[in-house]
Amino acid sequence: MTPAEALAGIKLIAESAKALGNILPSSGKLRSELSKVHSSLVQAQQVALDLQTALATANQRVFELEEQIKKGLDWTTELERYELTEITAGVVVYRLKASAQKSDEAPHSLCVQCAQDGKKAFLQRKTIGTKGFLDCPRCNAAIADGTFVNWI
Ligand SMILES: [Zn+2]
Repeated sequence: MTPAEALAGIKLIAESAKALGNILPSSGKLRSELSKVHSSLVQAQQVALDLQTALATANQRVFELEEQIKKGLDWTTELERYELTEITAGVVVYRLKASAQKSDEAPHSLCVQCAQDGKKAFLQRKTIGTKGFLDCPRCNAAIADGTFVNWI
């Protein structure tokens, strides 16, 4: 029996109790007892409805958390293709491991801050005058002030 079927059963019994109460003499003991049964069933019906709503909310939350876990696991697996590399004193990026490079993929590095947030952000080379740095298009970090070395 599904929760919806149980709820329909409670509703049917409550309606039957009410209908029986209506055909009995207005002052009889049986009518009074049926009225109590009806009242209890209406309360039970409301509790069942509330539980059904809570169950749907909990199921949605479980689905969302499972998706987050899956994304986290996928990201962890993806990040294993990179190694934390110091490109200049005190400055690190996630550099693609040569052994993990796919045939259709260029060598590249990822922003460490964005990677920690679970986001893949490709660092891009930029120059201003003779100074070079790596720019993160996602968080706008400008990484490593100085002249380009072969970082990527
Ligand atoms: Zn970033």
